[in-house]
Amino acid sequence: MNKRDKSLGMDRDITRRDFLSGVSIAIGASLLPACTKSGAPNADTPQAYYPPAATGMRGSHPGSFEVAHAAVRGERWATERSGEHYDLVIVGAGISGLSAAYIYHRDVDPDARILILDNHDDFGGHAKRNEFTLDGRTFIGFGGTMLIEAPGTYPKVAKQLIRELGIEVERGREFGRVNYSELYETSRGTFFDKETFGADYLATGRFGFSGSLDDAPLSESAKKELEHLFADEEDYLPGMTPAERRAVLESHTWREYLEQYAGVGEEVLTFVQKWSHSVWAVGADGLPAWMAWMDGYPGFAGMDIGYADEGVSDETRFRFPDGNASVARLLVRKLIPGVAPGNTMEDVVTARFDYTMLDRPENLARIRLSSTVVDLHHQGGDLNADVDVTYVRGDKGRTVTAGKVVWAGYHTILPHICADVPQEQSAAMSRSVRAPLVYTNVLIRNWRSLAESGVRRVYCPGSFFQSLMPTHEVSMGDYHFAKSPDEPIILHLQHIPLAPGLPVSEQFRAGRKALLAMPFETFERNVRDQLGRMLGPKGFDPARDIAGITVNRWPHGYAYSVDAESGDVAWWPEYWKHEDRPWIEASRRIGNIAIAGTDAASNAMTEAAIEEADRAVRSLEVKTPG
Ligand SMILES: Cc1cc2nc3c(=O)[nH]c(=O)nc-3n(C[C@H](O)[C@H](O)[C@H](O)COP(=O)(O)OP(=O)(O)OC[C@H]3O[C@@H](n4cnc5c(N)ncnc54)[C@H](O)[C@@H]3O)c2cc1C
Repeated sequence: MNKRDKSLGMDRDITRRDFLSGVSIAIGASLLPACTKSGAPNADTPQAYYPPAATGMRGSHPGSFEVAHAAVRGERWATERSGEHYDLVIVGAGISGLSAAYIYHRDVDPDARILILDNHDDFGGHAKRNEFTLDGRTFIGFGGTMLIEAPGTYPKVAKQLIRELGIEVERGREFGRVNYSELYETSRGTFFDKETFGADYLATGRFGFSGSLDDAPLSESAKKELEHLFADEEDYLPGMTPAERRAVLESHTWREYLEQYAGVGEEVLTFVQKWSHSVWAVGADGLPAWMAWMDGYPGFAGMDIGYADEGVSDETRFRFPDGNASVARLLVRKLIPGVAPGNTMEDVVTARFDYTMLDRPENLARIRLSSTVVDLHHQGGDLNADVDVTYVRGDKGRTVTAGKVVWAGYHTILPHICADVPQEQSAAMSRSVRAPLVYTNVLIRNWRSLAESGVRRVYCPGSFFQSLMPTHEVSMGDYHFAKSPDEPIILHLQHIPLAPGLPVSEQFRAGRKALLAMPFETFERNVRDQLGRMLGPKGFDPARDIAGITVNRWPHGYAYSVDAESGDVAWWPEYWKHEDRPWIEASRRIGNIAIAGTDAASNAMTEAAIEEADRAVRSLEVKTPG
């Protein structure tokens, strides 16, 4: 180990290390007990199976995706028939698959026997919970799906489901009671790194605003440009009609627009490149200018581009400490009575789930984890017949039969494992693209250095992690967020792997490939290095102060559809300009197989996952002709 790594604490025994990384481990091997020092698997004690407490490489963790990738390459497994028959088999235990099970029981058949299969070692899909334990205290963070955004705009079926789960979205403010920003006078900040900007410098104050940049390592002209841009008062398209402005915004990326119309230079373009990473998982070079306008990014001075205000707006945001993992947990608690104690949205936060109950024969709904579906077809090729569903668990293939199936996995894989998908639909499914994202949670022993630095949320335009903030500052039920900077908190750091300059869907592909090849150690070193450089001047010591790291890797993250000819991405389906809507064609029912999931909406949002589940379940109820 070199000196630098040692000073960063790369040798420290924290609750992490993907000692499994890169090794094709047996599925189910991630039976990590809560934060053991060694992280040793403890498969003999099923009671200890509690995946939210596993640290190291999570999200698409080692062991979760290898079988699916092999299936796409054409690999097949020796299988045996298990003799199990279900009224409904659901592929995917994300919010969509879990909602489909709930809606099926509620609206179609309360006695239906349902099996839900998922390739991960935990349920929830993207909506995952991360826990750390330090000195006997548990800290909760979100590993993926962060929050319920604008629930007032949710479609009726999603509003209903959220309500039935007991989530009172209007009470959101009640749980983030302490305003830490005011209490400790922390605000936003920007971290300039020396590799990109020539010197390490943490600027405090509103991003890009006057005062915050005085000592930043930028040229004087770049500072002026940035301040001018963020003041957002100049009309860069003077004299144009709304239609003309719209034409400009629709034919340029945000970067092109800023370069060509706002006349900003390379330093400012570098500054804004990752601005949209957190929201859209794409950079300024790929984000259409009209989207930047819609999101209120600077450079448009409130200009009218002739878009009608089409919808209801809602500023409400509801945050559980573990993000929307609580939505998944509430669904599972409804589906499997006794899996966890409690019956309110507050008590689910600290409810310990008994994973041994997920797949009991006596359950009406069973959840089978670490099980990758590798084949499904209607028996005898008859689209009215039962469906054979084959999954691989460990290295064994098993086939169960189902009267109906809801596919709540990704679109792109289905044609590879289901010969019943018609050719046209298969082509439509291949139009789905997924943006890769990484959400890293870092448990730090105290956040005095943040409080002293005066920052809470930091944008890092040149660094490996483009943003940093404390995880949700939410106290709910028996769970309490830190009351003072002397207490531990989880920091949430984001890394969006992209390849700027390439067409967007190729950037996603390149990012995904890079991500799967990136070991945990790379993330850990970057966490330590970046935090040390940002907060070190205020006393943060990465070797001493980092108590745990969990990397949530999502190679198949946000769901988008792409137009075959133009390469346009359907970021926002309501504003899609092309006639062809591949995600609609792709989500047509195939005999007894219905399609749910956010790919079916080209909309990576919780409400879309629920709405598509509802549509899929209902589509199964429509009689097939003949
Ligand atoms: C990092 C991140 C943050 C997000 N934040 C938000 C947010 O704050 N708010 C919001 O509304 N939305 C957010 N989203 C969008 C999120 O994707 C949706 O909200 C929703 O959770 C998606 O649910 P889903 O069930 O459709 O898909 P997923 O959650 O992807 O679940 C599908 C499941 O099916 C499994 N699967 C696929 N193929 C197979 C197979 N062959 N066999 C077995 N299982 C299979 C997958 O591995 C996965 O577990 C976020 C997404 C990501 C990636």
